[in-house]
Amino acid sequence: MSVAAPAHSRRPPPAPHDPLSLKGFFGVFRYSRRAIELVWSTNRALSISLACLTLIAGVLPASIGYIGSLIVDAVVAAIRAGGTDTGRVAGLVLLEGVLVAAMAGAQRGISLAQSLLRVQLGQRVNEMILEKALTLELRHFEDSEFYDKLTRARREASSRPLSLVTRTFGLAQNAIQLVSFAVVLARFSPWAVAVLLVAGLPAFIAEAKFSGDAFRLFRWRSPETRMQTYLETVLAREDHAKEVKLYGLGPRLLQRYRDIFHTLYAADRALTVRRDAWGFGLGLIATVTLYGAYGWVAISAVRGAVTLGQMTMYVTFFRQGQSALTAMLSAVSGMYEDNLYLSTLYEYLETEVPPPAGSVARGPHPRDGVRFENVSFTYPGAQSPALQEVTLHLEPGTSLALVGENGSGKTTLIKLLTRLYSPTSGRILLDGEDLARFEEAALRERIGVIFQDFTRYQMRVGENVGAGDERYFEDEARWREAADKGRASAFIETLPQGYHTQLGKWFQDGRELSGGQWQKVALSRAFMRTRADVLVLDEPTAAMDAQAEAEVFEHFRQLARERITILISHRFSTVRMADQIVVLEGGRIRERGSHEELLGIDGAYARLFTLQARGYR
Ligand code: ADP
Repeated sequence: MSVAAPAHSRRPPPAPHDPLSLKGFFGVFRYSRRAIELVWSTNRALSISLACLTLIAGVLPASIGYIGSLIVDAVVAAIRAGGTDTGRVAGLVLLEGVLVAAMAGAQRGISLAQSLLRVQLGQRVNEMILEKALTLELRHFEDSEFYDKLTRARREASSRPLSLVTRTFGLAQNAIQLVSFAVVLARFSPWAVAVLLVAGLPAFIAEAKFSGDAFRLFRWRSPETRMQTYLETVLAREDHAKEVKLYGLGPRLLQRYRDIFHTLYAADRALTVRRDAWGFGLGLIATVTLYGAYGWVAISAVRGAVTLGQMTMYVTFFRQGQSALTAMLSAVSGMYEDNLYLSTLYEYLETEVPPPAGSVARGPHPRDGVRFENVSFTYPGAQSPALQEVTLHLEPGTSLALVGENGSGKTTLIKLLTRLYSPTSGRILLDGEDLARFEEAALRERIGVIFQDFTRYQMRVGENVGAGDERYFEDEARWREAADKGRASAFIETLPQGYHTQLGKWFQDGRELSGGQWQKVALSRAFMRTRADVLVLDEPTAAMDAQAEAEVFEHFRQLARERITILISHRFSTVRMADQIVVLEGGRIRERGSHEELLGIDGAYARLFTLQARGYR
């Protein structure tokens, strides 16, 4: 898989999403409904608590401010009345104290509910992402743009959805506060309300614009970010350390890592500086209006139009109204970023996957085996076909060896046979039925494959064998049987915990196996598929010596008497044992026949065979 998208496939940043337009503004709420639905279905009790607490936290500040003004006026009145009646003042102070405590409780409750929801929601979204990944096709994983989408979706899966919900509720809470302040302020003057609202507008527009810019930047440069992540892996992971050290690649790769950072940082810095400069400038407008309003209210108090208590209340409400507005605006601009994240997430989750192909469990001619009829295939995005007009028939009980240079299409042929990809033209039949019409599980049961780059699961040895047949993943008796056939049992029994030995360096006490030992484990995995009628070995024996490989293949053939075995190997000592040999060249079948027949033709096979045989003499 390529690490960074090649330069020519690099798209320019998507057209700006104009936050100044109405559509741009309401776009902010586009995914709020879905995010809330997600939260609601994750945990209803917590969602309801969050909603109620938000409402309470919304109305309390205005109530507290109002009680505050009553206290001041009650004190002034009590002083004028001779300073004897303290009951009303004490009662009001007590009430305010209770409300403040309630406010603290509500806020604490909100943060508690959010913390719990964050954990649950993160797990939920991650599960959704992984469940979707299970339904994807191999081509998706090999497509760099798609891979980017998946990485981006995963990276912030635990935080973004809740963040959108938190901000939506925060917005509601601040809006309730603002309305309650506005209702009270309007009693002083409706103009005060208007000034309050208008003064906050420029800051919002700037915020929304910069958030959009930030996300576009983030999205556009994801190939570089991906290269950085990859370099981190190469520099800091045990499986790469060996080569990086011996070839002395470290400093050069680190320099690349630094260079990428400097390019990215320059863009970041420019955006951050602009964002903060505008933020400060527009923030000044708010301060100026606050003090303008302060003066206005104070003069009204001096002239006796408002009481002292009302003066403090109005000024406090104006100030708090401004903070509520600022909080709303930054919530909205944050929601913009969250929405952009969610758009990536939903784009990923809604990736179209063709419906499960077929429903057929077996073909009409059970003894017909495998047929390739004029099969051609071009990888998505590739210029030239990897396979061209391949026609081939394999009856049960035969063995086939595929020979050809690297890149001649051998693995591709296997990928088509296992339906990891579908032919671009032509068709492949199993027992007389088109492969495309087979039910997924039925097909999988019929074909067992061990690829050259088989997976080395960092799990127990036994599970590595059991992986060959998911139904018996943990069946120790079957592990042993398969390991015997795959010639792995001898070394497995010498391991400290036998079949239960943990493999791999990621875990404590994990053992590392040699290349040849891993291949024996992989071969045993193939033998777990006792019911498969087609067994494919795509060079999994390359790390064994020629003798061992030949033995393994012979053994394989004997055990697979009624089956079709397909072998890819560069060793002619093994290849010659196959009933049928196919020589691929540039995706086409160049020669076919048994070892003797091909030597008789004296073509490409004969030439390669003699070349290798000479090397052994
Ligand atoms: P072989 O197994 O004979 O070495 P492959 O079947 O792997 O060859 O490759 C055949 C051709 O297809 C090569 O030219 C290779 O570059 C190309 N190819 C292989 N895998 C992919 C892929 N995932 N995407 C695009 N092209 C590929």
